[in-house]
Amino acid sequence: MTSQRTRNRLVERLRESGIKNDNVLDVIARTPRHFFVDEALAHRAYEDTALPIGNGQTISQPYTVARMTEVLLAAGPLGKVLEIGTGSGYQTAVLSPLVERLYSVERIEALHNKACLRIEALQMSNVTLALSDGTWGWPEHGPYDAILAAAAPEEVPQSLLDQLADGGRMVLPVGTEEQKLVLITRRGDHFARKVLEPARFVPFLSGVQR
Ligand code: SAH
Repeated sequence: MTSQRTRNRLVERLRESGIKNDNVLDVIARTPRHFFVDEALAHRAYEDTALPIGNGQTISQPYTVARMTEVLLAAGPLGKVLEIGTGSGYQTAVLSPLVERLYSVERIEALHNKACLRIEALQMSNVTLALSDGTWGWPEHGPYDAILAAAAPEEVPQSLLDQLADGGRMVLPVGTEEQKLVLITRRGDHFARKVLEPARFVPFLSGVQR
């Protein structure tokens, strides 16, 4: 159920869904997604669906993870990257081998703690995780070449725009009932927005939950 063959089938499905970046597909094929969900759900880990991870949250759908990663990488290699909404740590694990340095924040302590154990077990030494409200980004390490959020705000938080490097790219879902996946590209003080496709993410919430 978690064999390499099962994982390869997922990759084939993602290719059929339009994912083209071979580096991204290679990483998805190598990443043990079953490690990021409860044992009881491990047999469904290589389906292309979101799954519950507790605390009312979900591990992102593999297509979504692949798509957001591909969009961020489209303009060339990435140095520093910020992720908002670590959740299970699956998107973190997919990004880690594809970027130089990755910072990721999660607002729910129970999820943050579990993600820390997983990222440590997988020895992803270029990743730093924090329990924090991503509304404020992570200014100490910015500016970032790329920012990815896995939760949908009604409006893009100003701090995240401020922490995007010149030429940097941000991908995130925006909206409440009707969400869109949006790509924001910064050129100096100009932020170009491109709507990519409809999306369905958990809401972007404020404050830390202990
Ligand atoms: N990519 C993750 C997705 C988890 S769901 C995965 O595959 O597991 C999105 C996560 O964003 C949730 O865990 C939620 O708690 C978190 N989140 C929502 N708003 C946030 C905020 N303001 N700051 C940090 N994390 C937030």
